[in-house]
Amino acid sequence: MTATAGGPSLPQERRVVTDIPGPRSRELQARRTAAVAGGVGSVLPVFTTRAGGGVVEDVDGNRLIDFGSGIAVTSVGNSAEAVVRRASAQLAEFTHSCFMVTPYEGYVEVCERLAELTPGDHAKKSALFNSGAEAVENAVKIARAYTRRQAVVVFDHGYHGRTNLTMALTAKNMPYKHSFGPFAPEVYRAPVAYPYRWPTGPERCGEEAAAQAIDMIEKQVGAENTAAILIEPLLGEGGFIEPAKGFLPRIAEYARENGIVFVADEIQSGFCRTGQWFACEDEGIVPDLITTAKGIAGGLPLSAVTGRAEIMDAAHSGGLGGTYGGNPVACAAALGAIETMHELDLNARARRIEEIMKPRLRALAEKYEAIGDVRGRGAMLAVEIVRPGTTEPAPDITAAVAKACHAEGLLVLTTGTYGNVIRFLPPLVIGEDLLEEGLSVLEGAFAGL
Ligand SMILES: *Cc1c(COP(=O)(O)O)cnc(C)c1O
Repeated sequence: MTATAGGPSLPQERRVVTDIPGPRSRELQARRTAAVAGGVGSVLPVFTTRAGGGVVEDVDGNRLIDFGSGIAVTSVGNSAEAVVRRASAQLAEFTHSCFMVTPYEGYVEVCERLAELTPGDHAKKSALFNSGAEAVENAVKIARAYTRRQAVVVFDHGYHGRTNLTMALTAKNMPYKHSFGPFAPEVYRAPVAYPYRWPTGPERCGEEAAAQAIDMIEKQVGAENTAAILIEPLLGEGGFIEPAKGFLPRIAEYARENGIVFVADEIQSGFCRTGQWFACEDEGIVPDLITTAKGIAGGLPLSAVTGRAEIMDAAHSGGLGGTYGGNPVACAAALGAIETMHELDLNARARRIEEIMKPRLRALAEKYEAIGDVRGRGAMLAVEIVRPGTTEPAPDITAAVAKACHAEGLLVLTTGTYGNVIRFLPPLVIGEDLLEEGLSVLEGAFAGL
């Protein structure tokens, strides 16, 4: 082990040696402001030099505890051994041939793994792309080609990406859509079962929300015009919303009864993040198509659409693809990431993270009225912040807590339609001592409000 390498060898300790951001980061930030488009934001402008395990190190020598994993990407850790080994070997062999020109085994092997790991024992096929948004766009293309229908139903608080079609599919205006229209047509939005904010309370939420969503489809769209129903089984950017029990099975059943392709967007929730391979497994949901990205390849850009063979084959040859889709280095990295997930049993690690974090978050919610709700599964957890004594969203308090955490060397991310959710997405390989220490920093942030 060398103290100069990143990845698993990076010392696993929180260390704050300057202001955050420190002087070197501020210098780089000035260069960045001059050279990088203003539309590209950063949660915390500390410039990264190394990362690994549960730590991100910056140019000033600060070491932050990582509760973000680069937005649920480095679940296996940064520069995980098997990812580096396989991707480096592939880099030395060839970097690109274009699968649409001369194919290679790594792509096929990733598709084989996806067929094994995704829910359901039916015949499955996959197509690989670069980003989550691209996977979602292709899932819609495939569903339309299969059904010969056009409409796509999505949900309140849903997030599916930033390209033109996926902006239309995404619920939230600011910052994702504002000033970027016009958006793609034939997209319809239904209510989602958000237990904390359901008017008649959480018990009736699943059933009532499903009935309302189906009524919307029937009245405004028509099942016979609907190609796909697209939903995140655990909503990410919308605020880590777990749809109330019964909602997803009812929607999936409605899709099945009406020949509508049911698409689970597991780009954030997939690959061990919630303590199982995919979040939809919780209620026994078997989606027709599933989109994956983020955690799939240990930090390299890769995404996939996986689903029933007959649906996946509906698009004509040459109709799907892209120059870089399923790049060989990214495929090698994915095989290394999947190997790591098996070897370290990262599903069990995610459940252990929940076991450690949830009780402490709940205790915090007992103590501070500003925490209205504690939710999530595995290592995809969140607290929703409100004005004490109400359910009114409090984005200002949320931002203040995040800022206090950052200053003390804990990297947390906020999210949610109302900007009032603090989400926790630690790498699944984070040490338990760092996890506990991170929670103590969070407690300190609330105490200092
Ligand atoms: C991040 C995300 C996307 C978009 O993925 P990109 O790789 O950023 O294009 C789509 N759906 C969900 C659920 C996501 O969390």
